[in-house]
Amino acid sequence: MTDLTQLNVPGPIETPLTEPFWHAAAEGRLMIQHCGHCKSAVFYPRAICPQCWSDALEWQEASGRGRLKSFSEIWKPGHPGWIQVTPYLVGLVELEEGPTMLSHILADNNDVTVGDPLFFAPTQVGERVLPLFRKIKTERERPMSKTDGWAGVTNGKPVVGQAAERSRVTTMGDIQAFTDMTGDRNPVHYDEALAKKTAFGKLIVQGGVTTGILNACVAEDLPGPGTVFLNTNLNFKKAVGVGETITGRVEIATMREDKPICTLNVSVRDGAGDICVEGTATTFTMPLQGL
Ligand SMILES: [Zn+2]
Repeated sequence: MTDLTQLNVPGPIETPLTEPFWHAAAEGRLMIQHCGHCKSAVFYPRAICPQCWSDALEWQEASGRGRLKSFSEIWKPGHPGWIQVTPYLVGLVELEEGPTMLSHILADNNDVTVGDPLFFAPTQVGERVLPLFRKIKTERERPMSKTDGWAGVTNGKPVVGQAAERSRVTTMGDIQAFTDMTGDRNPVHYDEALAKKTAFGKLIVQGGVTTGILNACVAEDLPGPGTVFLNTNLNFKKAVGVGETITGRVEIATMREDKPICTLNVSVRDGAGDICVEGTATTFTMPLQGL
């Protein structure tokens, strides 16, 4: 293979945004951005996350493991400085972390095929060290096979920022049903005269009746059938009376790729639009398709 150090080719154009990438590459390290909000890996360098629009992007060192997604043999380079090493390969490398990267591939055309595992190879090209890729030399360099943690999930993989709402009207039947389930016979749910003298000023439904609409939101809508709660952290801010319209809302805050697990921002509002319950939840969505 031709010595790339002898090339007289223009280097990359650095901007304040891309400087950390090129600086690390010059030191033989591959850095990509990670979103502190939705945990996505991000490349090329951006000011905001393309998944959730957060600006909480941090530079982290990548594993260097990737896979050849597509490639071309270049006979007619865009800059004459490259002519002496033609033909050479340029390919799309799918990084283990997820994003793809366009790179010079240190291999011959008949030596690689789409899907081949590749490893990061910082290489002197002219006066610069550039982030190229080569075939793997050890098993340690082989990328982990990508697993879709949401395979078989009824409603598919949710998206950060996606939201769902549903509404219903509370009834005395709700109170009785909850008492039948739990034995909770608190007088504030049954003794109207007494309840009117309390700070609530009215009969109220049990907290479980109010939050139950969140069970319906996650199980029916988002993430959908098969979903169970792993954790909830709820603040009860306003009691809900009988005959009131409540609206539950769930919004995907973060989503794991490797497992069907989400965190959600959740709330229940009353007919006046006041927040009655607010908090966060973590869910697991059981794959039901194909069972
Ligand atoms: Zn993000």
